[in-house]
Amino acid sequence: MNPKFSSMVLRDARRVVVKVGSSLVTNDGRGLDEQAIGEWCRQLAHLIRDGREVIMVSSGAIAEGMKRLGWTSRPKAVQELQAAAAVGQMGLAQMYETKLRANGLGSAQVLLTHADLADRERYLNARSTLLTLLKLGVVPVINENDTVVNDEIKFGDNDTLGALVANLVEADALVILTDQKGLFTADPRKDPSATFVSEASAGDAKLELMAGGAGSSIGRGGMLTKILAAKRAAGSGASTVIAWGREPDALIRLTQGDAIGTLLIAQTQKNQARKQWMADHLQMRGAVIVDAGAATKVLEEGKSLLPIGMVQVEGDFSRGDVIAVRDEAGQEIARGLANYASAEARLLCRKPSSEFERLLGYAAEPEMLHRDNLVLSR
Ligand code: GLU
Repeated sequence: MNPKFSSMVLRDARRVVVKVGSSLVTNDGRGLDEQAIGEWCRQLAHLIRDGREVIMVSSGAIAEGMKRLGWTSRPKAVQELQAAAAVGQMGLAQMYETKLRANGLGSAQVLLTHADLADRERYLNARSTLLTLLKLGVVPVINENDTVVNDEIKFGDNDTLGALVANLVEADALVILTDQKGLFTADPRKDPSATFVSEASAGDAKLELMAGGAGSSIGRGGMLTKILAAKRAAGSGASTVIAWGREPDALIRLTQGDAIGTLLIAQTQKNQARKQWMADHLQMRGAVIVDAGAATKVLEEGKSLLPIGMVQVEGDFSRGDVIAVRDEAGQEIARGLANYASAEARLLCRKPSSEFERLLGYAAEPEMLHRDNLVLSR
């Protein structure tokens, strides 16, 4: 990709996930780095004023918890690390809340697990909560829910979680801030011929070799987990930048088109990636049949599918399952993620959203399939 074009990747990114690692957040374990966190929050405010949406994925709970508990070396027992995370998370959330507020921004704590994002219903729930927070202009600050799982404790330091969040909200870019300038062709401390990689294609197998080899053991949050995170983020069309977290104004400059760190470019477009994802879910669990008015709205006007346009519900499906949308002649017009399970959908057929609460006992989304979770079949 030529430099002029690659500089536009971050400049054009509207929705950005920023991930910061433990060593940066806690100044190498010395304790929460108030100044650094304040700096990132100031930059996030700048991005938001610029019309972008940002999500922060921050580690540091274990490192801060260890300090609060007076532990000088990292315990081996995973349950002790989980306990430290629970202690440290209090400080982490408090610090982000204070610093974001000082910059005029609201904040929200979100603790997620990989399993939450693999489960369709929780995936949809997490997605709609995060998108609602973004709409409200609030910055979600995400960490792994270390009490119940320990994927990121064992390896990753939230690199994978950052990518999963980028997939979840279909971010345009994932920025991984770390204590290194980016990726080198080899470890520069061991190999003097190592050169800096300023740009590559995310998912290029050579990158994994540069970062220590696919066969080597994956260190917690080493360069390899970042390369793999970039590959995963690219799956939903997000490009990744790996950059030094203390680089002055790194986030602002990246969105102005400056080449900072290593840019790993996603080769698939966002909507193409979404289509592929839906296509991979060939096993559809059901269908809704819609009237001509709803079919036109979905096919020609780019609208979501509302229950009022549904005439029939087929099959047995849960919230989050992929279902088909068919017209009354039986032609498939779209596929998407169902907001309502089949039993609820049957109750909502032909009904306006003003009646949903009375029919279901709770008020939820007005759409059966939201436009963002839907791809046209023709
Ligand atoms: N989620 C963990 C944290 O925030 C991961 C970092 C680690 O393993 O030290 O502390």
